[in-house]
Amino acid sequence: MKGLIMDYPLTLTQFFERARKIFHRKTMATRVPGEGLQRYTYADYADRVCRLSAALNRLGLKKGDRVGTFAWNSHRHMEVYFAAPLMGMVLHTVNIRLSAQDLTYIINHAEDRVLIVDASLWHLLEPIRKDLKSVKHVIVMRDSSTAEIPAGALDYEALVADAKPVETWPKLDETDAAGMCYTSGTTGHPKGVLYTHRGIYLHCFGSSTVDVFGLCERDVILHIVPMFHANAWCVPFAGVMNGSTQIFGGPNPQPRDIIEIVHNERVTVVGAVPTVWIAIQAILEKEPQWDISSIRCIPIGGSAAPKSLIKLFDKKYGAYMLHAWGMTEMSPLGTVCRPRSYTDSLPEEERYNIRAKQGAIVAGVDMRIVDEGGTVQPWDGKSVGEIQVRGPWVTSGYYNNPAGAAQFTKDGWFRTGDVASIDSEGYVQITDRTKDLIKSGGEWISSVDMETAIMDHPKVLEAAVIAVPHERWQERPLACVVPKPEFKDRLTEKDILDHLTPRVAKWWLPDEVVFIDAVPKTSVGKFDKKVLRERFKGWKPKA
Ligand code: AMP
Repeated sequence: MKGLIMDYPLTLTQFFERARKIFHRKTMATRVPGEGLQRYTYADYADRVCRLSAALNRLGLKKGDRVGTFAWNSHRHMEVYFAAPLMGMVLHTVNIRLSAQDLTYIINHAEDRVLIVDASLWHLLEPIRKDLKSVKHVIVMRDSSTAEIPAGALDYEALVADAKPVETWPKLDETDAAGMCYTSGTTGHPKGVLYTHRGIYLHCFGSSTVDVFGLCERDVILHIVPMFHANAWCVPFAGVMNGSTQIFGGPNPQPRDIIEIVHNERVTVVGAVPTVWIAIQAILEKEPQWDISSIRCIPIGGSAAPKSLIKLFDKKYGAYMLHAWGMTEMSPLGTVCRPRSYTDSLPEEERYNIRAKQGAIVAGVDMRIVDEGGTVQPWDGKSVGEIQVRGPWVTSGYYNNPAGAAQFTKDGWFRTGDVASIDSEGYVQITDRTKDLIKSGGEWISSVDMETAIMDHPKVLEAAVIAVPHERWQERPLACVVPKPEFKDRLTEKDILDHLTPRVAKWWLPDEVVFIDAVPKTSVGKFDKKVLRERFKGWKPKA
């Protein structure tokens, strides 16, 4: 027997129209370097979204077309967040930190029809503009008062000003694509994740529950997680759903900028990767005048949050860190670590041990751990296995990428590539990673890509790149290189770095190159990086 509840589509249109009716007095703001915060109301925001939607339509974009953004966090970027999906177009947030090669691949693969670019980032796109086959228009946003619109590009502000606002939105299906994000894979090109309206909608409800981030109208949210990284953890969408005050970090926000905004604007929620908080802490340590105690929740994740950091922010700065785990393929939320009511009486150290875990799976998502032989492991806090997930905001396949099918099990679970144990209370503790990637300051470096690039060097026999722990960036790459016998002792670190420089993004360059006799191999002849990781466990990269 079927129930009798309306089959009402879960789309962003509902969030937007509701917010415009009831939250029009609320505000959004963007940090403009040297000029303070530029503010406007949700009413202004909604008007400009309607204009931008109309402008995109006038440029010939249709339902399903990809609208690429290449931008810092800003209210304009936030306008595209809704303007594209409300028209049935797909918001594709391109990661500004990638190499020219990856950018070209991603934009062509996604077949972006327009690119909306911050003026201050134009220099990164200009060199590859001619290779972007599908891009018909480049629209430039002036992210400072002195910014110029390059020749051949359209002026974002002029487009918005000239357009007649959309009055009626097209009818959308909740399974229509709303957003798109590429993520690095262990091998090959980055892979596209295509978010649906329904997935984002449900994720917003999930992240707003009190035991998750508890986002609400009273929150003042500062967006530091890049809007090109898993939709800034989807928080901007939830911000509109809840009518929260939203502040965008603007171009290249530095730790001091973040502290200043938190202090001045009494920010209540600000998420970021541990690297950012480590840098913030270093400033707070020296400058006691800053007060960040308005923060009620720091969603922290992307890499493991150190227990000492969680404790320090609690005790010294009165700011509660909430450890979370997730990934681009999960929109991104998977687990959050809230200690249960019945653990309040535990000794302090034990409570912090719990809080340093990745936490328990959030309502809506299923999780299991599976060993290498495919056996589901018990939740006993000891057995380990790969985390597999499924749920209404978990990707069901990579965009136009048949090889990506290997990341899904036959019975419909997504294989995360993270290895963990889960205790009897459901708390996850990540212990390892099967994906051969390095996470530096919250962004991925592909060790395999870098190895291939190094092995292209005519004097190199083989090379393996491994992650070594780093105080500031959490992980940095260490290149272990075997020279061809005839070049033994005649190959230098500089040779390798000079060779890599034009081939990879600058921040990918290994902190150090060590020369070894051979890369250890497994029984089937693959590089055995476990052995190398063990060998260089205590390695301290050069300062
Ligand atoms: P991304 O898709 O770039 O957001 O990266 C997701 C990956 O980051 C996960 O699969 C993990 O490997 C890692 N990650 C995210 N959050 C955490 C966390 N709290 N602790 C450890 N690793 C994490």
